[in-house]
Amino acid sequence: METMHADRSTPRRRGHRARILAVAATGTLILAACGQGGGGDTAAYPDDSITITVPFAAGGPTDTVTRLVAKPMSKELGQEIVVKNAEGAGGTLAAGDVANSEPDGYNLLMHHIGMSTAPALYPDLAFDPLKDFKTIGLVTDVPMTIVSNKDFEPNTLEELITYVKANADKVTLANAGVGAASHLCGLLIEQAAGVDLNEVPYDGTGPALTDLVGGQVDFMCDQTTNTVPQIKGDKVKAFAVTTPERIEVLPDLQTTAEAGQPDIKVGVWHGLYAPAETPDEVVKAVTDALAKALKDPAVVEKFAELGTEPVPEDQVTPEAQTKLLTEQIDLWTPVIEEAGVKGS
Ligand code: ASP
Repeated sequence: METMHADRSTPRRRGHRARILAVAATGTLILAACGQGGGGDTAAYPDDSITITVPFAAGGPTDTVTRLVAKPMSKELGQEIVVKNAEGAGGTLAAGDVANSEPDGYNLLMHHIGMSTAPALYPDLAFDPLKDFKTIGLVTDVPMTIVSNKDFEPNTLEELITYVKANADKVTLANAGVGAASHLCGLLIEQAAGVDLNEVPYDGTGPALTDLVGGQVDFMCDQTTNTVPQIKGDKVKAFAVTTPERIEVLPDLQTTAEAGQPDIKVGVWHGLYAPAETPDEVVKAVTDALAKALKDPAVVEKFAELGTEPVPEDQVTPEAQTKLLTEQIDLWTPVIEEAGVKGS
């Protein structure tokens, strides 16, 4: 499940692929350039396996959401969907790779809110989220929770804020790299407490949560799609959920607002992307498959168990995703500039 079809991973900028159309009687190869957009027969799409790249480690929340929707999408499209984890630099490395891959519908990217914060955080970003991708559709908006290992001293969010203020030099805060949702939520906590903490970056919050349970790091924010099983299994302490309302699956967990911290508010929206030159008909086929997958009862049920739900059907469109992405870039850019945070 971890490998990408070699042909599909060829960076577009290494040159156009050439397709052998025929071998003439003379033995001369007749080549036709399949330019940007993959040329080819889009009506036959898909006629090979599709790769969805997750820009974080396997076993984490973005990975979980992707694998849950990939299964019914694969059924809809009649082809295998390979989920590839390609972590690094808060998800920006993989996003750059997909932006530069063949725009033929076989290279897709699942990303989250980090797509909208990357331009402000990374001065040398290898892609423009709005120009180098086509949007396919929104997927889900996942609440975050603030969790710690069981031995961490504070027991409530109020106590946690007081504790990190007094112990800023020794407290460790895990995240999935600069620009990851866990990093953004951690920044909000640091701002609320007025401190800079020792941040411990991971390739994704899957491995971060494992270390947190093991006591190697103190606390972090993470999507419910990763933390609900650990919270319910009493493997971590949970302090609050970052949504305005409590969530059904964790009814006893207070919101950050209830705990007096309404500014620690973040939802982790996810969307599916294709390289910018991907033909519209191909994008439409993927959008349709995504919309059907999000209605699959097994997906709805599993999402609910993990504290989330599919976006409404009218949000599973390129237009809705582009609108949200644009709004979110406008929202986060000044916040990040003011905070003076940069990735590298
Ligand atoms: N939850 C992670 C984040 O902080 C990403 C992941 O591992 O899925 O953005």
